[in-house]
Amino acid sequence: MLDNGMNYFDTSPAYCRGLSEGCLGKALKASGYKREDYVIATKLSNFSPAQYPLEKCKEMFEKSLKELQTDYIDNYLLHSVGNGDFKTFSKRYLENGALDWCIELRKTGRIKNLGFSFHGDPKVFEWCMEHHDKYKWDFCLIQMNYVDWRHAKAVNKRNLNAKYLYDELTKRNIPVAIMEPLLGGSLAKYNYAVAKELTPLDPEASLAKWAFRFCGSHPNVMTVLSGMTFEEHIKENIKTFSPLKQCSEKEFEALESAAKAYLGFNTIPCTHCNYCMPCPYGLDIPAHFAFRNNILTMKDYPSAKEVLDEYNKAIPEPLRRAEHCTGCDRCVSHCPQSINISKEIAKIDEWIDGLIDKEIAK
Ligand code: SF4
Ligand code: SF4
Repeated sequence: MLDNGMNYFDTSPAYCRGLSEGCLGKALKASGYKREDYVIATKLSNFSPAQYPLEKCKEMFEKSLKELQTDYIDNYLLHSVGNGDFKTFSKRYLENGALDWCIELRKTGRIKNLGFSFHGDPKVFEWCMEHHDKYKWDFCLIQMNYVDWRHAKAVNKRNLNAKYLYDELTKRNIPVAIMEPLLGGSLAKYNYAVAKELTPLDPEASLAKWAFRFCGSHPNVMTVLSGMTFEEHIKENIKTFSPLKQCSEKEFEALESAAKAYLGFNTIPCTHCNYCMPCPYGLDIPAHFAFRNNILTMKDYPSAKEVLDEYNKAIPEPLRRAEHCTGCDRCVSHCPQSINISKEIAKIDEWIDGLIDKEIAK
């Protein structure tokens, strides 16, 4: 990756059940590259009240350094700011002195740049912008893709348009890092209605390539983050960005039409981040939503039997299925997309029950 110019590594103490920083630290060490050859971004992921006290935040930071095998962090982020209301933000970063301490970390060089990742509450974002003169944000990580650009509320009522966030940051000269360029992978999956808008302009390009080109075509974007599961993804992404072809006006218009086509399917806005996992009752929550979204975006709506077959493939027994959700709602507060998870799972359960009844009645 580094040989091909991919030098930005984004992690968090919360990722991959706490294993991400340690794995990245080992991999970077083993790469043989010098520390200044790559950029490490990690986060103050103090999500639970037990992690709010400043001492706990400090412990988290020291552990990050140890796991990452480094003595400084290039880009340090307040993690998932705005996921929760202003009170939560204040408890996590203001009342406990954590933000002031981060400023001290920057002064001493233990972090090079300070930013925040944003989800949701407009008041928190406005506060961060109003206080830019005081805190001097070095960058900001936002959810941006060609659907969220102008239609974030259609995906999720709580979200703000990426265009608004990007413009607010750009006018303050705060560089933008992008998360969810593929909207949790949804924009990389083949979708006939989306392809109809884009493919005629470039028959060879994958839908993922279109989504990345959209993000990279905005001049204040400093990096585009994408979870990549297979080596092929890495190779394809390297190709897309080597060099990146800027979108033309006509292509931006086609992407806007593609966004509208995508929204026509009314899918669940799950980005497969896994923050809601593990479910104490054993459900694979993102797998349920991926299954539901796959069915919704099929060109020819499948029969009851086909849907049930897909369900059996996606969540085979004896795995815990929608019917096992107790509605305990322990997952809900963790979801940065504010999905009412138990309600959506209950809908899937009802839908599947209805299909089973239909099959039995045949
Ligand atoms: S509400 Fe359902 S899906 Fe969420 S944690 Fe509880 S049992 Fe699991
Ligand atoms: S339901 Fe929410 S928290 Fe869970 S994987 Fe999807 S987006 Fe992430």
